[in-house]
Amino acid sequence: MKCYWQPLVLVFDNMYQESHLAPYAAHSASSVGRRFVETPSASRTEFQRDRDRIIHSTAFRRLEYKTQVFVNHEGDLFRTRLTHSLEVAQIARSIARNLRLNEDLVEAISLAHDLGHTPFGHAGQDALNHCMKQYGGFEHNLQSLRVVDALEERYGAFDGLNLMFETREGILKHCSLKNAQQLGEIGHRFIQKKQPTLEAQLANLADEIAYNNHDIDDGLRSGLLTEAQLAEVDFYARHRREVVLAYPDINGRRAIHETVRRMINALIVDLIQTSQECIAQAQPSSSDDVRNANALIVFSEPMYAEAALLKRFLRENLYRHYQVSRMTSKARRIITELFEAFMAEPILLPPDYQVENSGVGKQARQVADYIAGMTDRYAMREHRRLFSVGEI
Ligand code: MG
Repeated sequence: MKCYWQPLVLVFDNMYQESHLAPYAAHSASSVGRRFVETPSASRTEFQRDRDRIIHSTAFRRLEYKTQVFVNHEGDLFRTRLTHSLEVAQIARSIARNLRLNEDLVEAISLAHDLGHTPFGHAGQDALNHCMKQYGGFEHNLQSLRVVDALEERYGAFDGLNLMFETREGILKHCSLKNAQQLGEIGHRFIQKKQPTLEAQLANLADEIAYNNHDIDDGLRSGLLTEAQLAEVDFYARHRREVVLAYPDINGRRAIHETVRRMINALIVDLIQTSQECIAQAQPSSSDDVRNANALIVFSEPMYAEAALLKRFLRENLYRHYQVSRMTSKARRIITELFEAFMAEPILLPPDYQVENSGVGKQARQVADYIAGMTDRYAMREHRRLFSVGEI
């Protein structure tokens, strides 16, 4: 792979990576680099810098008030996009250290993976995608990349955060072939059907481990799920029985937490062991070998089957619960009405989002950027400001 990033001094970064990382991990010395050349840091690795840039971004702070499953005002203890992203980073880093992968890179990808999410979770993204149908659509993965490549305004020399190629590649988890063809180098792997770095593969599965388990916890906390229902999920029931064996008198929230933490641990241990076996078999000696191999960060077959049953249970019993559906429906109306109002009268937009004489497609993308950047409560307030006579 072409390297257009020529480091001047990389003593710290090299020393750290040589001593800590496996040869198949992502090393910044063999990175495709940044879009705009920068002087390397004397005290941080390049991927540490990426992680730090993400934490200091505006989009990262907004995650605190964006829905994961439950809308922010529904309760203080439910996961938000921010706490979800922190849990993904924690799980991914634990696994990365075991596999001698690049913890800084996996942390950067994990913290950034949901930056492009709209308010109101998947309901918001589906509504915005529908609104944007004739203007190229809206996809939260692509929007996360757009946030770090273009929308953040923090540096004098460039738009966006100017992250390393491998961080950007990890953020772009999925991508349609049509979009991939328009993205240049970052889209090539989707066209060539190649794998991303092991760190990107890992962040993707850490995301799944995090949301499957915290949605069980939040579902039970909200009362929308019951432990009696969960008895039908063998993965949950088995670990629940283990908890009772260890602590016969346990009940309530403590019993749920003991169960969920065992489930998370089982998934992590399985992922580490199976991935170690796959890596040992494929023997990749560089990131390029990783790209040309099959996916190497994988669960065992039985664990995939258990995770699939868990996902199906959540889909049928939580994500389609009538109370969640009511919020989903409200979210769809808010997003759609905001979009239609701004498109009909762009003068209602804040000046930064108004684009004069540039065509309806560009205006639509600006409206989508504005709406996607909103937190749940900002979207609700903005909707009231536009549609309720009494609001200013
Ligand atoms: Mg996520």
